[in-house]
Amino acid sequence: MLSYRHAFHAGNHADVLKHFITIQLLNYMGQKDAPFTYIDTHAGAGLYALDTGYAAKNAEYENGIAKLWEKKDLPAALVEYVDLIKELNPSGKLRYYPGSPYCAEHVMRLEDRLRLFELHPSDIKILHENMRKRELHQAEQGQKARGKRVMVMAGDGFEGLKALLPPQQRRALVLIDPPYEDKRDYKRVKDTLADSLQRFSAGTYAVWYPVLQRQESREFARKLSQLPVDSWLSVTLSISQAMPDGFGLHSSGMFIINPPWTMEAMLKEVMPYLVKTLGNDSAAKFTLESGQGAAPIGRKPVR
Ligand code: SAM
Repeated sequence: MLSYRHAFHAGNHADVLKHFITIQLLNYMGQKDAPFTYIDTHAGAGLYALDTGYAAKNAEYENGIAKLWEKKDLPAALVEYVDLIKELNPSGKLRYYPGSPYCAEHVMRLEDRLRLFELHPSDIKILHENMRKRELHQAEQGQKARGKRVMVMAGDGFEGLKALLPPQQRRALVLIDPPYEDKRDYKRVKDTLADSLQRFSAGTYAVWYPVLQRQESREFARKLSQLPVDSWLSVTLSISQAMPDGFGLHSSGMFIINPPWTMEAMLKEVMPYLVKTLGNDSAAKFTLESGQGAAPIGRKPVR
């Protein structure tokens, strides 16, 4: 049974981390002329109202986007992210928050492709509707993509990803962002990455994960770092001291395989700002690690 609804968490500190990094990765991909594909294996609903329904219940965005909303001293990477959300809220009041598909659709070019998977029967309908509205909006602006720019697919993103790799253009960013309420998600992510790297080792893969007490979570980034990849980057953001599992999320991470070379310097600039601005107590912190993975599949280690 699917109980997770992302609307409860929309705009929280974990979304801030995930979405500003995803936008930066997409901008980087867009710097080359050749088109690319963005694959979101766990897309969610695409857009969330913050002042009604699930999102208003715990108002998690108050410990996330709301703290950046009025800031005048944002680092450049956060300006791009906050500006995107400001466009979505032309009244100036923070009422709507974009999910990863919306962020991606907004920054990607007409020639790029989006492939979005969602399993929840309600969220898939909302996602379809939100993406259709964006297409209509673009048509009104006289912008029309050739072929099917956005495809929304109802189904298991772990499985669906296999059929999309390698992408035709040999350029792709894959975001893997499952709920992790089922602890098997940790293993599924690792197995999916191992399989995906066999199919397409040159892709950029970004994995979001919660930093929790449970063993699977504590060992997760280390296990991913053992995958056969050229390079990886691992960043976590904690906004307060650790809480027992089940009492709210205080920390989360992004693990990026084949990151752009500019990413680490950008994170060194932005992460201290996020700790200062989103942190709730003196335990707030970030971690940033990078490294080489095991030798990529099919390639001999350089001696
Ligand atoms: N990526 C979204 C964003 O940043 O806006 C949030 C995604 S949310 C953390 C995880 C989503 O995955 C939920 O909407 C859930 O219904 C969906 N989901 C759960 N298992 C799935 C699966 N095996 N395949 C595709 N979607 C799944």
